[in-house]
Amino acid sequence: MRGKRFQIACCGLCLAVILSCCVGLTGGAASSGSVVADRVDPAPAAGAGHLETIVRAIGPVSREAELRRNIAQATFCLPQNVVGILYYALLKLTGNVVDSEGMNETTIVVTKAPLGVSLGKFIFLNESLLTENTVRHEYGHTLQGYRHGPFYLLLEGATSLVQAAVSLVVPSFGVAYFDRWPENEANVLGGVVQPAVSAAESVSSRR
Ligand SMILES: [Zn+2]
Repeated sequence: MRGKRFQIACCGLCLAVILSCCVGLTGGAASSGSVVADRVDPAPAAGAGHLETIVRAIGPVSREAELRRNIAQATFCLPQNVVGILYYALLKLTGNVVDSEGMNETTIVVTKAPLGVSLGKFIFLNESLLTENTVRHEYGHTLQGYRHGPFYLLLEGATSLVQAAVSLVVPSFGVAYFDRWPENEANVLGGVVQPAVSAAESVSSRR
């Protein structure tokens, strides 16, 4: 439960900070795969090549889609890119970058900082959260930014922040955290499959 609450907190924080205000030049999910919800998929011990393996498992989008997304990131998404670059520089300066790897238009940055943050072309993930599912989930938030443009922070950001805050105070509310919008939409867009495990956990929690 502690790890799950930590992840929910990170997710809420990520949406509070996310500045993915891109207009919908892009769309579509990451390549699909048979995966389970990130909240029940603990990260294995981080090792050399772990991030690269995850990125390879998710797979690339088409070159056309990547080009469109890069154009969006360089124009409508410029503000969050600046914030992402500054945050990346801060992490580097403070020695908090553990690993990084390019994935389509984004760069996945594994960090010691207790955050999961999607900022423009950057996805920052705490090393304890590094799984294929969490990368897919955060990439889903990036795609939400493309879909909802400058209203993203007001819609997804505020909603997620409130739900994350309530989940930390009322753990039973957090059980279905990833079943509610916008988290469930991020899972869908990122290619995370909501598994039977999630429902089973919900049933179990009601007993
Ligand atoms: Zn999230």
